[in-house]
Amino acid sequence: PNEELFLKYQPIYDLKGAGLKGFEALVRWNHPELGVIGPNEFISVAEDTGLIVDLGVWVLQTACKQLEVWSSVADSRELTLSINISAKHFSQPDLVRTFRNTLKGSGIPEGRLNIEITETAIMENPESALNKLNALKRMGLRISVDDFGTGYSSLAYLQRLPVDILKLDRYFIRQMAQDKQSLEIVRAVIVLGHSLGLSVVAEGVETQDQCEWLKAMDCDLGQGFLFNRPLDLIVADQLVMDEVS
Ligand code: C2E
Ligand code: CA
Ligand code: CA
Repeated sequence: PNEELFLKYQPIYDLKGAGLKGFEALVRWNHPELGVIGPNEFISVAEDTGLIVDLGVWVLQTACKQLEVWSSVADSRELTLSINISAKHFSQPDLVRTFRNTLKGSGIPEGRLNIEITETAIMENPESALNKLNALKRMGLRISVDDFGTGYSSLAYLQRLPVDILKLDRYFIRQMAQDKQSLEIVRAVIVLGHSLGLSVVAEGVETQDQCEWLKAMDCDLGQGFLFNRPLDLIVADQLVMDEVS
């Protein structure tokens, strides 16, 4: 079944003018009868059946290989690649070992592989999450808290966690123009992130207006349809090549 999986790569840009920062890997399933299916339609089933662990390992291995390639052709750009880890996968006792085995011998420079975990997954078991994240950090990974603002993060924990990046959920970005409260949440998360020494990524940036608002509020990074849709490998590869040519 692994042959039916593939990754799309969505660019993440520096909103402060430094250009392409890296990519987020987003999994797709090329189903023999149904065609290409998005993760919202199969991740929860994969979690229920336990297949999510195999899927997560496949994503990790595939992303590592790709990041190795990009690191070697465009080393000076220090491009990052982010992968999503599901709550169920993150809760596995052997998660850290799996990462260690996969990363062993890989030529990925420190700080380039980024893992995205939702605040809900972290808060399910904050003490265990703290240990795991610390171990992953020691392997040179960077940690993003995904869908930030939609869960119930304890700020006390957030401060203790070895987190590098907050990812503002696209819900807030979409609402920003219509409702003042969402705008204020976006502003508050950016301030909070910066006061904790973290970078803030806005996801789901679709309009130039949203982008301008985010820049005005000092948001660090952005991704969304305004810049690019999630791209096929061949197109993402070309973007990387353009960076070095
Ligand atoms: P996410 O981590 O919040 O990823 C962002 C989702 O927003 C992606 O949907 C992306 O295609 C979509 N998106 C990006 N920019 C825009 C925009 O400007 N407008 C709109 N409307 N949408 C935008 P996708 O690829 O369908 O993924 C959905 C969710 O599935 C992801 O949400 C993530 O939670 C999960 N997922 C994706 N890939 C993986 C994976 O490899 N492993 C695991 N465990 N979960 C994954
Ligand atoms: Ca994500
Ligand atoms: Ca999200």
